[in-house]
Amino acid sequence: MKLFETHAHLDLPEFDADRERLINKCFDSGIEYIINIGFNKETSLNSLELAKKHLHIFATAGFHPHDATDFDAELIKRLAREKNVLAIGEIGLDYFRNLSPRNVQREVFRNQALLAVDYDKPIVVHNREAHQECYKILKEAEAKDVVFHCFSGDIIFAQQVLDEGWMISFTGNITYPNANLDDVIRMMPPEQFMIETDCPYLTPHPHRGKRNSPLYLHLVAEKIAEIRGITPLEVAETSFNNAHRFFRIPPDPVKPVSKKGGKSSKGKKSKKTTVKDKKKDK
Ligand SMILES: [Zn+2]
Repeated sequence: MKLFETHAHLDLPEFDADRERLINKCFDSGIEYIINIGFNKETSLNSLELAKKHLHIFATAGFHPHDATDFDAELIKRLAREKNVLAIGEIGLDYFRNLSPRNVQREVFRNQALLAVDYDKPIVVHNREAHQECYKILKEAEAKDVVFHCFSGDIIFAQQVLDEGWMISFTGNITYPNANLDDVIRMMPPEQFMIETDCPYLTPHPHRGKRNSPLYLHLVAEKIAEIRGITPLEVAETSFNNAHRFFRIPPDPVKPVSKKGGKSSKGKKSKKTTVKDKKKDK
């Protein structure tokens, strides 16, 4: 099964003992891309470092509501210009834990949403018990490419988000008995969802209690498949394509080819480019 892990925190100390081994194992077992998510200065920088080391790991940069009081706009602007930073996030509001004052959370979220729009980057949203305020800030910022990561609303809020053309994303928490997300999973259009682990957190059943990793992502696909009455393969493929489009995954750099083939294909390519460029100019 070909999978796209859209939300991981592999830079965290939980992975210090076996990070590279685990990453290799992921890429050997069907994971094709990983988005490593920043949530403050340190993790945004570390996510970028990880992305620079691995062709198919990309980073995001952002200040989570828990870290809102440390917000550094210049850092986000600098990171937004990096080619391996594909999105701004995770940013948003957390009115459940309230680790930062709510007015600071709102201000910092608004700032980053506007920066994301300015720099033409998708937004990865963290929202806990702040549905309407998150919605309002994103609407006011005129954000177009948005994913509500670890979606936690009801079908009414899901519909509101989907009507904007935004995405919703699911973690291992959909495998928990109290998840209450079956209705949302049934009603969402196939082109508007993604899957993620949010590792090392939110380990899916039956591994709950252990450290989470992208190796458990297939369990999220399997649960969605069970609820929608389709195959896990379909879920994996659809969410893969959605994620590839949403994060605007760049093509792999072209590998050097043998001398003979390289010359002829190079010649063809440059000819084509010239024609295209001319057309553009006119
Ligand atoms: Zn996260």
